[in-house]
Amino acid sequence: MRKITATIALLALGLIACLVGCSGNAGQAAETILDSELLAYHGIEIGIPENPHYRFFDSDDLAVEVALRVPGDYGTYYFTPGDWSDELIAELVLVSEDGLRFAKDFLGMEVSRPLSFVFNITEPDEDHPFPIWGGAFVLDTSMFFSMEASLFPSLIVHETVHAILAYADRQSNFPQPPETSSWAWAMFLEEGLCDLIDFLFAQETAHNYPTNYGDEHLHTVALRTLNQNDHFSDELEFGTRYPQLMSYETAASFIYFLLEHHGTIDDFMRVFDDIYLMEDVFGQTMEGMIAEWIAYLNEHW
Ligand SMILES: [Zn+2]
Repeated sequence: MRKITATIALLALGLIACLVGCSGNAGQAAETILDSELLAYHGIEIGIPENPHYRFFDSDDLAVEVALRVPGDYGTYYFTPGDWSDELIAELVLVSEDGLRFAKDFLGMEVSRPLSFVFNITEPDEDHPFPIWGGAFVLDTSMFFSMEASLFPSLIVHETVHAILAYADRQSNFPQPPETSSWAWAMFLEEGLCDLIDFLFAQETAHNYPTNYGDEHLHTVALRTLNQNDHFSDELEFGTRYPQLMSYETAASFIYFLLEHHGTIDDFMRVFDDIYLMEDVFGQTMEGMIAEWIAYLNEHW
């Protein structure tokens, strides 16, 4: 659950960028959507799920009401009751399928059963098991996206990367910020990897897919974040081990720098699993590599 906080906080920044240029979607009656020519054209088979609840972790306490379901090649898509249009459903399914394939290929990881995506466009009330609005999170390999229709699609690839890593049982031993931090428990090396793949997908997809970086480059945003935070020198907030990487954008920029200048994603994933392999894999200590990355940002961005 800790990722919820992290993603919500990130989204608070990102949604501002998304507010411009996202169009609203007129709702359609469910009968019309079930008979939609647009969905049929895209080969999207929509139906009413046998079970009107999607249960996270197979738990009745973590069940979310669902009205519509689409089986895809890579994911299974659930839509909560709401004012859906077939255009929005098509967009979410197509972006998710493309995004999941992109993330899987980028990581070189297989996912042999569909991941679950639950999309919600109605603000949850206080009794809802996930009173999250304007954000998204992952529990194991199930994802929940909850925001106004006009803000979709966003965050899909970021969360998908978390889900693929969970599916592959990959968890980094990168340190977490200290208990005194407002980011305690965040796993920033993983968050950085999620943000990087989200950013790269947005750059190459033909879909409209806004990210938290707006029109800016990842490295530009990372350098600004470093400077604004005085290189993350506040030990209570960022700790003493690799503090410069204790944010989504700086961790993402660091990983991108490694991949652009020093090695492959397979090399990086070895270090992701065990950061003590940094010197063996990249020939440079973690501290040395961080210094090299910052020098690169200062020189080129
Ligand atoms: Zn995340």
